Amino acid sequence: MERKRCEIICVGTELLLGDVLNTNAQYLARGLSELGLDLFVQTVVGDNEARMESAVRSAMERAEILLFTGGLGPTADDLTKEVVARCFGRKLLIDAQALEEIRSFYTLTRRPMPISNEKQALLPEGGIILKNPQGTAPGCVLFSDRGHTAVLMPGPPREMRPMFDREVVPFLRQFSSGTLLSRVVRVISLGESRMAEMLSDLMDEGVNPTLAPYAKDGEAMVRVTARADSREAALALTEPVIREIRQRLGRHVYGVDVNSLEEVIAGLLAESGLKASFLEAGSGGLAACRMQAADGASGVCGASLSAPDLSGLAPLLGIPRLLPENPADACAFLSRESGRQLDALVRAVIWQNGTQYACAVTVEGETRQYVQSMPSRGLDYYRTAAVQACFDMMRLMLLDRLDAKKQK
Ligand code: ATP
Ligand code: MG
Repeated sequence: MERKRCEIICVGTELLLGDVLNTNAQYLARGLSELGLDLFVQTVVGDNEARMESAVRSAMERAEILLFTGGLGPTADDLTKEVVARCFGRKLLIDAQALEEIRSFYTLTRRPMPISNEKQALLPEGGIILKNPQGTAPGCVLFSDRGHTAVLMPGPPREMRPMFDREVVPFLRQFSSGTLLSRVVRVISLGESRMAEMLSDLMDEGVNPTLAPYAKDGEAMVRVTARADSREAALALTEPVIREIRQRLGRHVYGVDVNSLEEVIAGLLAESGLKASFLEAGSGGLAACRMQAADGASGVCGASLSAPDLSGLAPLLGIPRLLPENPADACAFLSRESGRQLDALVRAVIWQNGTQYACAVTVEGETRQYVQSMPSRGLDYYRTAAVQACFDMMRLMLLDRLDAKKQK
């Protein structure tokens, strides 16, 4: 079977104005990629009949399967069904069952049904109805004589997502030639370009799987994507490549297919039977906030404190002495001394002032410290960089201790 090409067309002037982020496109793109379907173009078009029609007609020249979101509602600016039906040469007919379902939605919610809602029961001849348990607008699938398939889904993500997962994915399976599996290797304390250099031959040679580097929020990642007949076969294709990446990048790899660095640290803390406290100066409590939100963090978080600067933290901990002048030394000093006030055996101190950041971590009596200067790129950047550096130091110290225990 020849591989079908898909396109996504999101309809809505609010998307063009930037009022609403196009999360539907992201959701559908991921879903198509998991199905192993090709997607080469995405379109956003406003609620305008002529421009929508031209978008549909040009998509029909490039692709066989068109996925739409938005414009299925009852109001006059909801035009997707009308326009697609015209381009596909299909009439719209009132569907008795769809009308009944819309009516019963209103009966159930004890509200009168506006006449305009009857429009939502109009469905293209020869089409398939897609149920919408989350709202009133049903979706539909229609077919053109030239072999096109259009899938129409509502705009609100809370309606679109369950419809896509429950109705559209099973329908699209017939077009899918296998699966596309992506795995993500997460890398820290190694810039994206340095990482790419170390993996350049794998990236150049990679056909199946392919490798793509990314950078995001103070870390780097490599996406490893394989195409195969089954999920298991795709997984098996990625395994040796991921092993090779781990070999080359060593401890810079903090996880594969994990949600976050803090989730990995939470796991290491749990494995070590330890709790962590964060003392933060200038990072707005970001480290504690991220840590406490991580999966598996409930049993591993101790009390944490946040202040604008280091001198604000000391009195809260009952430390009257003057702090060392050097910020990294001051962090290390606070990290050690706070053991009297805080019962957590892992304590991290983070500091940043917009030109420099420093941190210190104490794990069961051993303290390490770190300082870095960077050209200023704004408060968020600095806070994130400081927290990432601290998290990474904590991760490495916990790994060292676990390794040492295993060797005993
Ligand atoms: P309704 O019955 O709510 O009118 P609809 O199918 O006509 O549903 P739209 O009117 O196009 O959908 O969009 C309704 C709302 O759904 C938008 O205001 C927006 O908040 C959200 N929405 C629409 N399209 C998208 C999209 N592509 N990504 C994220 N949100 C979207
Ligand atoms: Mg609408």
